[in-house]
Amino acid sequence: MSFSHDVKSELVAYSAEARESGQMKPCCMQTETYALFLFCRSFSAKEMGLKTEHKGIADRYVSAVREMTGHKPKREKTAGGKYRVIVEDPVDRQAILSEFGYSGNEVNRRLNTGILQDEGCRSALFRGAFLTAGTITDPEKDYHMEFVLSTKSLCMDLCDLLTEAGLSPKYVQRNGAHVIYFKDSESVEDLLTLMGATSSSLELMGTKMYKDMRNRVNRRLNFENANSTRTFDAAYRQIKAIEYIEQKRGLESLPPELRELAKLRVENADYSLKELGENLSEPISRSGVNHRLQKIMEVANDLKLIEKNKH
Ligand SMILES: [Zn+2]
Repeated sequence: MSFSHDVKSELVAYSAEARESGQMKPCCMQTETYALFLFCRSFSAKEMGLKTEHKGIADRYVSAVREMTGHKPKREKTAGGKYRVIVEDPVDRQAILSEFGYSGNEVNRRLNTGILQDEGCRSALFRGAFLTAGTITDPEKDYHMEFVLSTKSLCMDLCDLLTEAGLSPKYVQRNGAHVIYFKDSESVEDLLTLMGATSSSLELMGTKMYKDMRNRVNRRLNFENANSTRTFDAAYRQIKAIEYIEQKRGLESLPPELRELAKLRVENADYSLKELGENLSEPISRSGVNHRLQKIMEVANDLKLIEKNKH
């Protein structure tokens, strides 16, 4: 499954839990449902429905229609394996429109900000908008998150709201659609957190840290070593081990000669073994460094075993 699909699954689960446990206020629930309808391709007296690749989102739309109208909408699977839900009855469409303050005769589809009561509502609106109109690229490849909307007026309204939330959305027209996008990792992280996708946000941060470090190291190692990825992975594993020791027992628990090397390693992910050896207060050879790093890894592994046996 794609990263986008995973984020949506997290949001659907988050929303269900927050609603069932009573953590989500009624105003925010209403706003989330509103966004689920509003940001779909069709939301008018003439046509209303949702198309999604995510089963959980289709389920949510279906139950929202049922709650509001007492009727089950038509639900089908497209040839492409997507889910399509259609509100076929014009009376039902009209009932849903008026529930959210629309007459059905609007020329432009606009955001009814009157529904939003608090900051929670704003987050709920972003969440609903992302579920129906959003995608996010796998952070391994790129930092990119976007909302694709069919009308410009609605797109601008969402843009305003995102700006009010302290984000800096960008706008582009693509194949007749109106697209709001974010390209910097901070905005993507912030928005994920705002919407309630905390795990995905953390995952993105972790990937970013790993990528930044790998790039920095590779830039240097490319000049020196064709096996840069392997060298980097070793450095990365060492740093992880050192961080683990620090977290569990503190670096003070290490003998002085290991402690000094551990600090040097963490501060200089891009150093080769030779450079590490040269920069110690009492310089040692490449193989000496290798030997000490092995010892550090052993300490970390022992700590992990102890932790494991605790549980
Ligand atoms: Zn609210």
